[in-house]
Amino acid sequence: MNMRKSVYIVYTGGTIGMKKNAQGVYEPTSGYLEALMAENPTFQDPQLPHYQIHDYHPLLDSSNMKPENWMKIANDIKDNYQEYDGFIVLHGTDTMAYTASALPFMLQGLNKPVIVTGSQVPLCELRNDAQANLVTALMIAGGDYPINEVCLFFGSKLLRGCRSMKLHADSFDAFDSPNFPPLGTIGIDIKINTKLMRRQAPVDHNKLQVHPIKEPVVAALRLFPGISARVIENILQPPLKGLVLEAYGAGNGPDGDEAIMEAIRQATQRGVVIVDCTQCLTGTVNLTIYKAGSALAEAGVVSGFDMTSEAALVKLYYLFSRYEDPKQVRDKMQQNLFGEMTC
Ligand code: ASP
Repeated sequence: MNMRKSVYIVYTGGTIGMKKNAQGVYEPTSGYLEALMAENPTFQDPQLPHYQIHDYHPLLDSSNMKPENWMKIANDIKDNYQEYDGFIVLHGTDTMAYTASALPFMLQGLNKPVIVTGSQVPLCELRNDAQANLVTALMIAGGDYPINEVCLFFGSKLLRGCRSMKLHADSFDAFDSPNFPPLGTIGIDIKINTKLMRRQAPVDHNKLQVHPIKEPVVAALRLFPGISARVIENILQPPLKGLVLEAYGAGNGPDGDEAIMEAIRQATQRGVVIVDCTQCLTGTVNLTIYKAGSALAEAGVVSGFDMTSEAALVKLYYLFSRYEDPKQVRDKMQQNLFGEMTC
């Protein structure tokens, strides 16, 4: 008979453990989620692993998340790594894809599952998606699946964290990874696609390392018809180090506007790393198809290929926290480091 495993749950905040305050709006409340789970017999079922919940202070609506909060989560997992078989990060849905994209860069040498999840409706409501998401996350994090990476689980899909995006504001199946197949599908059965999983790091459980993300100044800018050179010049001013440029289609931009192109050229010559991601949901940047793309490449913009903007942004944070030399950041930006791009 299999031993019942143990899972460490961090509750960072978010809808899943919220309740209505005196003004009638949802707010996360310390100890509330743990109490709801303790009084619900489902969570005591012996088919589920043992779990321990750690509430953060303050609990956040995920709209308030910053890289320092990602650091807190990563360090917490490292501090408890030996004692538990798997980890669940309960998180608000709004910036869940950013956190699920950041953690794979930070937690290196992972040999256990880290499942990021949450819900659209809190556990305290009669009709909710919180209970199903929590039960399945516990089964995945405390099961015998060969998962050695950070995944986002939501609704019916287990996704690679650094490929995930929030696509729906009000659906129970709110997340997807449009440029990468799900790592698992959850219906009557939990089906894990083991072929897609990242390989296990060399087995040395002491070797989980947290690579810090400091807060270098990076930004994301979505191009739009009529964007002015002044807007682009302003965002590219020092101390900016890196920019995710959300461009059109295969990565194209307004190459006919010489002032814009000059602002981009001057910034890349100063060492600002500008990475081109597409505004499209699927497909890849290819700066060799149109002049409107190749002109950006000639101005020093690098391709983000099929990375999500979320992954590209956290990758800039990570690389600039690690390397001083923008040339190294430019080079690494175009390489697949943790499964964040197809190559
Ligand atoms: N605003 C909430 C949050 O991101 C939404 C949610 O959890 O679904 O924290």
